[in-house]
Amino acid sequence: MDIKGLDREYIANTYGRADVVFVEGHGAEIVDDRGKKYIDLGAGIAVNAFGVADPVWTMAVMAQVSKLQHMSNLYYTEPCVKLAKLLCERTGFKKVFFGNSGAEANECAIKTARKWAFDRYGDESHSTIITLKNSFHGRTITTLAATGQDAFHTKFGPFTPGFVHASAQDAEEVRALADRGDCCAVMLELIQGEGGVVPLTREYVDEVVKIARERDMLVIVDEVQTGNGRTGTMYAYEQFGFMPDIVSTAKGLGGGLPLGACLMGERVEHTLGRGDHGSTFGGNPIACAGAISIVERIDDELLGSVRRKGEYIKKALTGAKGVRSVTGLGLMVGILTDKPAGEVARAALARGVIVLTAHEKVRLVPPLTITDEQLEKAVEILKEVTGE
Ligand SMILES: *Cc1c(COP(=O)(O)O)cnc(C)c1O
Repeated sequence: MDIKGLDREYIANTYGRADVVFVEGHGAEIVDDRGKKYIDLGAGIAVNAFGVADPVWTMAVMAQVSKLQHMSNLYYTEPCVKLAKLLCERTGFKKVFFGNSGAEANECAIKTARKWAFDRYGDESHSTIITLKNSFHGRTITTLAATGQDAFHTKFGPFTPGFVHASAQDAEEVRALADRGDCCAVMLELIQGEGGVVPLTREYVDEVVKIARERDMLVIVDEVQTGNGRTGTMYAYEQFGFMPDIVSTAKGLGGGLPLGACLMGERVEHTLGRGDHGSTFGGNPIACAGAISIVERIDDELLGSVRRKGEYIKKALTGAKGVRSVTGLGLMVGILTDKPAGEVARAALARGVIVLTAHEKVRLVPPLTITDEQLEKAVEILKEVTGE
């Protein structure tokens, strides 16, 4: 079958795909349709947290598939309840709303913040949300509006009003926007992922949280990419020493199945009431059964290995030929190279290593369970590619 030709003919032309058809894999090793093997430093896009066909995840998913695949949110089912309890006990959040993607998790976060302000002020006078420039929050009309990149603010207007953007790392801009008096929340990625794996500094985040607290605003952290062990803690905010009011997450949570979650803290746990929000597929039993098997295994040992492997990548690539800088936390790494990132990704792929790009950077977000041998081999190949 001419998969590439059929894709061009029948799939909406929104993706620039790499020239490869993947068919199967095991952990961080993926095989294409010609039998060539690759080491995976992308995990989809930070999605396959435990790699491909992880046996524990597969068993959990298969057991649920053959039992009950869906019953809608009109009835009680066990997997979503178990997962929500796990997430809350793990983090201290009080309530969880499940959707199917990062954008949906952010939609829920945005609705929760606006409803919270509506309840507080009795009108929509405090509906504005501050987000950061160079952020990425999703592809729906509202999450595009939240995304602080002008490139996303054309062609599809009118966009949802009520978002203002502040330069990352300049707390005075956040303060000035907060002083307008119409804001209910500030929403940020602690490491801007799609924006090029750019971490915010602890000092900046401290200041933003302080401003939010002083101005009676909520702090929403978009952990769609940074969450679920990716940065070496269950959620990245733990490394920034504060507790957000709302956290959105998705990508790695489902281990490869579509699942998003909006975690709600004390201040907003009762904000959404019956009928305020919903999702037909949200909290799907199969996705949640898989997610339980992922979250249960993101323990101290795994998180320690994520930090160690992240340090290894940083050390191996910092100062390497053709590498200008290495940023990130845990197994979320951005590399600025002399060569254009796309060229590095193509050359690495040709040599059997899958890497992603993010803006001008090469981005590495491998399965959390990648072995040391696989990582060493992949990093060596990457060094060859960047250095020549
Ligand atoms: C990927 C991503 C999203 C969007 O997630 P989808 O599942 O594609 O809707 C939102 N925020 C961040 C930080 C992301 O990395």
